[in-house]
Formats: sequence, structure tokens, C-alpha cells
Amino acid sequence: MIDSHCHLDSADFNDDRDEVIERALAAGVEHMMAIGTGDGPPDLEAGVRMADKYPAFYATAGIHPHDAAKATPADLKHLADLLAHPKVLAVGEIGLDYHYDFSPRDTQKAVFIEQMQIAAEANKPIVIHTREAWEDTLALIEQHWTPRGIGGIMHCFSGGPEEARRSIGLGFYLSFGGIVTFPKSLNVQEAARSAPRDRILIETDAPYLAPVPKRGKRNEPALMVHTARRLAELRGESYEELCNATTENFRRLLLLN
Ligand SMILES: [Zn+2]
Ligand SMILES: [Zn+2]
Repeated sequence: MIDSHCHLDSADFNDDRDEVIERALAAGVEHMMAIGTGDGPPDLEAGVRMADKYPAFYATAGIHPHDAAKATPADLKHLADLLAHPKVLAVGEIGLDYHYDFSPRDTQKAVFIEQMQIAAEANKPIVIHTREAWEDTLALIEQHWTPRGIGGIMHCFSGGPEEARRSIGLGFYLSFGGIVTFPKSLNVQEAARSAPRDRILIETDAPYLAPVPKRGKRNEPALMVHTARRLAELRGESYEELCNATTENFRRLLLLN
């Protein structure tokens, strides 16, 4: 399995990061993609630091919508430079978050659009974070991204079958995380059931969103087995089929580019 999205640079892992990675490998999580949003700009190298230190890691770099208001032209230049690193596979997580509104919405949109342009110039996929902002997110992607034909990931997919259908139509893969194991996430489960097999990925978003039966605890990549089991069950596939499909999809989108 490949964990398409985790934040193991987080201080939550300062006491036992090496052990957490050992447990991931022992659980069958061969690779992890370290999301390089760090503490926000100017710290854009959080993912690169992980990928340089640990062979099992790939990385992204990007400015989270929460931090959009902090982004300077120098940060955007730095981001573009980081995309030359051989283990930086994508730009992310980027997008819109209207739940917290930590940055003004117009600023979130502008920084999202600028990062799509930077990703396009480097021919790298994008990793999308969207919260309570589906309409604006999909509209900006349709206008600024899909015509480029590069694709991307809807991280921690939290929509239903309709958002799934629209995202896939715009060239995206759906990455399912712990939410799909929560009993009340019926909409997300319905999306997981109906999503085409060649467009699904799996992730932890560790340290956040631990799957049942560890819900509420610190999440880590080894716990992804619970998410994978639930996803396989929902889709009527074997655990092995699900793991193989998501791994193959990750490679197609991110490694064969
Ligand atoms: Zn996110
Ligand atoms: Zn994240």
C-alpha cells in the first residue's frame, strides 16, 4: 500500500517518528507521501526534509488554503524551485477551506490559482484540500486545471457520489481516508462504492482522522489497514485487490508522469 497523504513531519511524531515509520513498513505500507505544507510559508520544505531522510517517502510542496494570506511572491518562487526535487511528486495540499476561513476567500482563490499555474509549468499533479467549498473548488479546477490534462487528487475525499462523479470528470482521483470508516459517513461510503476502480487512492492524513477502531486517537500510516479493509468491504473487493488497485493508481498518476 501507499499512503498518499500524511503529515509525519508534525510535532506529534517528534518522540517516536522512526518507530511510526517502522510500524508502517511492517503493516505493508511501502511508501508514504509527505505533504509539504509544514507550518505554512516560508516553511515549504517540510515534505522534502522527510523524503531526503527516509527512503520510503515521497513528498509534495505547497501552500495550504489556511496559510494563503501568508504567501509572498518569494514563497511562490521557492515552491516552483522545490518542484525540481526528484522526490517531489505533486503540488499540495492546495485548495479552499471555507469551514475555518483562516485566510480571506479571495486570497485563498488567488493563491490556489497561482499554485495551479506553478504546478502546470512543472507538469506535476495537484493535491486538493476542499472543505465546505465544493462549488468554488470545482469551478476553479474546471477553468484553470482540467484543460492542462495533468490530473490530481481529491485528498481525504469527503463528498458523496455526485462530487465523486464531478471530480472524476475533471480528471481527478479520489483518496479515501479514515472518514470512510465512520458509521455516519454514508455519503462518502456511497461514493467509495461507486467510484471506478482505476480512480481510487488511500491515505491516512496522519496525525488526523484515525479510522475506526482508533477514531479520536493519533493517526499513523500503519492504521491504514483498517481503512483499506473497510474500503474493500464496501466495494465488494478483496483486501489484496483493493491494495493492488490503489497502489497501481498512485504509480500511474504520480510516478509515471
Ligand atoms: Zn487537508
Ligand atoms: Zn493534509
